[in-house]
Amino acid sequence: MIPDLGEEEAQAAAEAIRSGWVAQGPRVARFEQEFAAAVGAGHGVAVSSCTTGLHLALVLLDIKPGDEVIVPSLSFIATANAVRYVGATPVFADVELATGNVTVETVDAVRTERTRAVVAVHQGGVPFDTAALRKAADGWGVGLVEDAACAAGSTAYGAPAGTGARVAAWSFHPRKLITTGEGGMVTVDDAASATRLKRLREHGMNVSAADRHASKQPVLEAYLETAYNYRMTDIQAAVGLVQLGKLAGLVAQRRQLAARYQELLADIDGLVPVRDPAYGQTNYQSFWVLLDGFRASRDEVLTELAARGVSARRGIMAAHLEPAYADATPGPLPVTERITRESLILPLHHRLTETDQDHIIGVLRELATR
Ligand SMILES: *Cc1c(COP(=O)(O)O)cnc(C)c1O
Repeated sequence: MIPDLGEEEAQAAAEAIRSGWVAQGPRVARFEQEFAAAVGAGHGVAVSSCTTGLHLALVLLDIKPGDEVIVPSLSFIATANAVRYVGATPVFADVELATGNVTVETVDAVRTERTRAVVAVHQGGVPFDTAALRKAADGWGVGLVEDAACAAGSTAYGAPAGTGARVAAWSFHPRKLITTGEGGMVTVDDAASATRLKRLREHGMNVSAADRHASKQPVLEAYLETAYNYRMTDIQAAVGLVQLGKLAGLVAQRRQLAARYQELLADIDGLVPVRDPAYGQTNYQSFWVLLDGFRASRDEVLTELAARGVSARRGIMAAHLEPAYADATPGPLPVTERITRESLILPLHHRLTETDQDHIIGVLRELATR
């Protein structure tokens, strides 16, 4: 992933610096409004990363030590880590092969009477079945946090992937479609949750520092609860506003390149590329390919691609296989382990040309017939 950053972002950052207002201020407020509008949410609360956003989402849902929170193991490790930040226990659910996402069935299979919430991930940009999972979570009486780190520009049921979410967390890390260097956003529909989240990211203050500084009258703040400093800066938000304007174009370009990959891969035996699910569209944040009876092993493919100047990556990680989760005792996660061991992510970025794609496909075709 190569971020699409240019002169416009550099100018915007410079303007923020020249304005003298560099910490959370008017640009953050504008970025929150514009981002929330773009994903069909009532309110956006900018934070320092998606990871800190997930933490706040779990605090918002009042998740505590002793609670269990169901998460996919097949995700960036921050999804599971956020559960541990609130002292709760992450319980790993398996995923479905086609989307790499948890389903109602895989979540239900590991649900216990201690389950208080589910963190479902729109993995690599592929939306999970929002209608089915939101309805099931409501029926079970458990909270649903949507890890939408990769999902800016993805859709489900004809709307942006975050539309209708109880609470969703987004990432603006440079490995995602749009970036602020580091940064994240939490989106919610109701004003009370937004107010609480704003307090939680800013030391528990009842008046934001920005509002206090902007006021002509002296404002005395109060600290209502023990909270965090998870703020985004106005320099980051200035960059984010420019990036947000590029989102639709970036998604369109990625979808075009992905369609071309799919076409070229169609007659190579044993390689199954990710596709749109029936209920939505992926932004192709990650274009992953599953090896299904391919002639070479995943690592052989990665090695050969690297030798030919192509930086493909291993597939999505599985948290339960990492040392940090050695003490977890998950049930069987066969699909998770299959995807993490037998998939790879092909290069897809705004500078990828058709010539690059033809070269990559050529290497894969050679490996298939060797
Ligand atoms: C990238 C990512 C995160 C972490 O985002 P940061 O903004 O880097 O904290 C969390 N969850 C998933 C699924 C991700 O891909």
